[in-house]
Amino acid sequence: MTEQRTALVTGGNRGIGLEVCRQLAERGLRVILTARDRAKADAAAKTLDTGDVVPARLDATDPVSVRTLAADLARRGVHVDVLVNNAAVLVGEASGVLETTIEELRTTFETNLFGVVLVSQAFVPGMVERRYGRVVNVSSQAGQLASMGTYAPAYSMSKAALNAFTRQLAAATERRNVLVNSANPGWVRTAMGGPSAPRSVEQGAETLVWLATLPARGPTGGFFSERKPIDW
Ligand code: NAP
Repeated sequence: MTEQRTALVTGGNRGIGLEVCRQLAERGLRVILTARDRAKADAAAKTLDTGDVVPARLDATDPVSVRTLAADLARRGVHVDVLVNNAAVLVGEASGVLETTIEELRTTFETNLFGVVLVSQAFVPGMVERRYGRVVNVSSQAGQLASMGTYAPAYSMSKAALNAFTRQLAAATERRNVLVNSANPGWVRTAMGGPSAPRSVEQGAETLVWLATLPARGPTGGFFSERKPIDW
């Protein structure tokens, strides 16, 4: 029998994050469904009637919250094998790049980049030690430099920076069976994506779940959409 893997999902209480939790639990992983509000994590976990789902509090931007959860899991002997850095904010969408305030940039980078770095620093060293890890950084086409235009400057720049973090982390964990990739879920019907988006959360989660469960020698340091590599 193969060992049950444990996945931790940030922003797992709604939208694409919640669907990633559902699909990973369906595939037999133990899922730590995290939310910055513990009550929201509990409520979201209750909506998933499938598998082994454990709710927990994690504010990705708060070092104390990250340390507290990491210490709590370590005490319980729970190793995080899979990390889905899904939590993000979309701030100042309507501001052009010349009007975007530094405050909008700070708020955005705090969650979309610094939060991802903080959470990864807490859980990736254990993956390297145990020689198994899958990290999915939930990015966006908005962060793709090759096609970048005027859309949501703060958000787009934060996702481009997140992609750079993917490259750094993949290079730093090379040949340790830790596979680190960025994923574009596409335009998805969630609070962030809005009701006109063409894709369902099931479709949005698919590539993320594929990257979270890659076999050994799978790709690392890539940017994927619909399971295919795309330009940075
Ligand atoms: P969403 O419905 O707005 O959900 C965002 C999630 O992030 C919520 O659970 C939110 O928690 C959480 N979050 C925000 N700040 C947090 C923090 N500091 N700590 C922990 N959790 C935090 O967004 P979504 O559409 O599902 O997006 C999920 C991911 O896909 C994001 O990375 C987003 O950039 C990316 N994406 C989405 C689309 C799209 O069309 N929807 C397109 C491309 C990329 P609260 O409930 O507490 O606010």
